[in-house]
Amino acid sequence: MAMHFPSLPDRVVEIRARLAAAASRGGHGQSVKLVAVTKTHGPEAAVEAFEAGVPDCGENRVREALSKMSEVDAPVLWHLIGHLQRNKVSELEHFALFHALDSSRLADAVCEFGLKRQHAVDVLVQVNTSGEATKGGFSPEELRVESDRLASLPGLRVVGAMTMAPLDASELVLRQTFAGARHARQVLASAGHPAIELSMGMSNDYEIAVEEGATMVRIGSALFGARDQ
Ligand SMILES: *Cc1c(COP(=O)(O)O)cnc(C)c1O
Repeated sequence: MAMHFPSLPDRVVEIRARLAAAASRGGHGQSVKLVAVTKTHGPEAAVEAFEAGVPDCGENRVREALSKMSEVDAPVLWHLIGHLQRNKVSELEHFALFHALDSSRLADAVCEFGLKRQHAVDVLVQVNTSGEATKGGFSPEELRVESDRLASLPGLRVVGAMTMAPLDASELVLRQTFAGARHARQVLASAGHPAIELSMGMSNDYEIAVEEGATMVRIGSALFGARDQ
């Protein structure tokens, strides 16, 4: 059957090579997971990513993700990379990892769900280290307080931090944003969380993110082409 994304296998090879080179330049010694962001594309994007050796797919909207999952037979590991409403926390059941824990109230709701299902929910805490008012997540000051409070919530497990850099930022601002997230992960680890992951880097900035220590990059357009939406 014809592929919807015929250049995908080559792009995966090239991006993996760039990830490895950036990791070695950065010197943080991490391995980097490639998360293929399939939002706005059909289920074939996830199937073809899986066949190209990328089992992790990211979606930013729950409803779109669930409908895509129902059409994909391959054992894709789904990541929820966008905001989650508190009344939808039970949908986390369908995801390997939630990247965008962005408020205390959401944390309480996720904890309650984890306790109910008797299995703590793995989450990344979203941090706003660029200071942009339009970006979600905890500021560095808020995180200092929240990291201790999160440690008292047994229904979730904070396995790292996530951030989004400003669009079209200078390399200096990108590096500051990513280094800020790396520091946030340290704050979380110091509060006792098993925080080892750092989800940062998208199509336009992933090499800098990896140089700054990213363990997961979320890449859409560099794999699947530009989105119309
Ligand atoms: C869309 C999206 C991405 C991927 O963006 P690209 O620029 O297409 O690589 C990464 N992270 C989040 C949270 C997104 O919403």
